Amino acid sequence: MAGMTSSARPLLNRRLAEFGTTIFAEMSALAVRTGSINLGQGFPDTDGPEEIREAAVRALRDGRGNQYPPGPGVPELRTAIAEHQRRRYGLSYDPDTEVLVTAGATEAIAAALLALLEPGDEVIALEPYYDSYAACIAMAGAKRVPVTLRPHHGGDAGFRLDLDELRDAVTPRTRLLLLNTPHNPTGTVLTRAELAEIARLAVERDLLVVTDEVYEHLVYDDAEHIPLATFPGMRERTVGISSSGKTFSFTGWKVGWVTAAAPLVTAVRSAKQFLTYVSAGPFQYAIAEALALPDSHFTGFRDDLRAKRDLLASGLADAGFEVFRPRGTYFITTDIARLGEKDGIAFCRALPERCGVVAIPNAVFYDDREAGRTQVRFAFCKRTNVLDEAVSRLGSL
Ligand code: PMP
Ligand code: GLN
Repeated sequence: MAGMTSSARPLLNRRLAEFGTTIFAEMSALAVRTGSINLGQGFPDTDGPEEIREAAVRALRDGRGNQYPPGPGVPELRTAIAEHQRRRYGLSYDPDTEVLVTAGATEAIAAALLALLEPGDEVIALEPYYDSYAACIAMAGAKRVPVTLRPHHGGDAGFRLDLDELRDAVTPRTRLLLLNTPHNPTGTVLTRAELAEIARLAVERDLLVVTDEVYEHLVYDDAEHIPLATFPGMRERTVGISSSGKTFSFTGWKVGWVTAAAPLVTAVRSAKQFLTYVSAGPFQYAIAEALALPDSHFTGFRDDLRAKRDLLASGLADAGFEVFRPRGTYFITTDIARLGEKDGIAFCRALPERCGVVAIPNAVFYDDREAGRTQVRFAFCKRTNVLDEAVSRLGSL
């Protein structure tokens, strides 16, 4: 019997029992199996800068990072991360005590939650939430408390956070806010005013905050990414997380990082050292060089993605989807109700057969499945001709 021993006790512990296989693995496998265009899992179909790839090759050849790098990350990368935070946001972190390199943002999230939570603590996360949040909160034995971002139909507002709902969700057991902005999958970028209010709430209720900022460089139009750690009273209570995967289009390298005050980094490192100890060495040297690329790299990449967003957004709208225009990330959330569709999960499972495109049903990112039942997410980090072809296929629906 699958998943059972002879004593009939499930092999998978009950904390993880509800999670199954991640939607990204399921949908990417479906794309491969059906030969569909994969607008599901978020990864670019063009690698990052050639000189950064060469930097990784050089590091490998020169024997830098081929043996265990230092646990907190190679000094060159920690210094480059600190310099990036200073240059872009005016945040100052000591590379030796306040920066930690991790195996992608995924490990940073896991290590932060495992380090900072006790069983029974409540964690508030914006719903729809990135799928690893729920699993990591569960592994820590804590309880997730979703606060739902609500779609604004008709206008250009996209999904918005209701600050009163957030305030009401805080209880005496709340230990931590797990905040993601720019937000996957909705593309919402929290505004300065919203962040200021969240900061006030965190100080008032003495909460820790973990901020997932992996899309920090992917913001469009009038949106601006502002790290929560820059607000009064927040530096000492915020664990900032980012990753090179999205910023430099090397999602397979899995180089992420944490920046925070020394006591927080010390705590997160205590968990991190027993998860992976360290992550791949040569890539760390290459990402140190990537972080020092001129501003034109970051703006050029962003402008390219904005054009792709516009292309896919108008194609989806023409095909009959309701489109929530994202201010950040490389995802567009749509609503399929206008197409006469009632269920995003069934829709996404059938989409390859119907028109050779793969997408992600947002329902899996909700506790309140009803709230996300007709939402479907499309990634636009693909070559223009691929997006054109996807739009033409979706037009046949
Ligand atoms: N957080 C969010 C919101 C994401 O979309 C992703 C996927 N890139 C991650 C974390 C994980 O990042 P990484 O690949 O660096 O582990
Ligand atoms: N962050 C990517 C997404 O949201 C996927 C990363 C993963 O597969 N875990 O699509």
